[in-house]
Amino acid sequence: MALGWIVRFLVVMVLMRLAWKFLAGLAQGAPARSQAPPTKAVSLVRDPACGTYIDRSRAMKFGYKGETHYFCSEDCRANFKQGRRAASGGA
Ligand SMILES: [Zn+2]
Repeated sequence: MALGWIVRFLVVMVLMRLAWKFLAGLAQGAPARSQAPPTKAVSLVRDPACGTYIDRSRAMKFGYKGETHYFCSEDCRANFKQGRRAASGGA
C-alpha cells in the first residue's frame, strides 16, 4: 500500500514542522527573556544640562529646591547653576 506510506510520511513531516516551530519559538523566546534592562544593574540618571545618562554613583550632585540633580561633569553642574540663576532672575 503506497498511499499509506505517503500519508504516514506527510503526517511525520507535519509533526516535525510543528516540533521545529515549537523549538524555534523556545530558542527565540529565551534570549529575549534573559535580556534584562540595563537600568537594573546600574541606576542611570539624566544630566539636565547636556542630556547625557550617567551612573548615579559617579555623577556630580547638586541639590536644588529639595531635588537632587546629577551631572556628568563640573562644567555641566556650573552650566545648570547658571541656567537656574538666569531663569529665576529673569522671571
Ligand atoms: Zn553633562
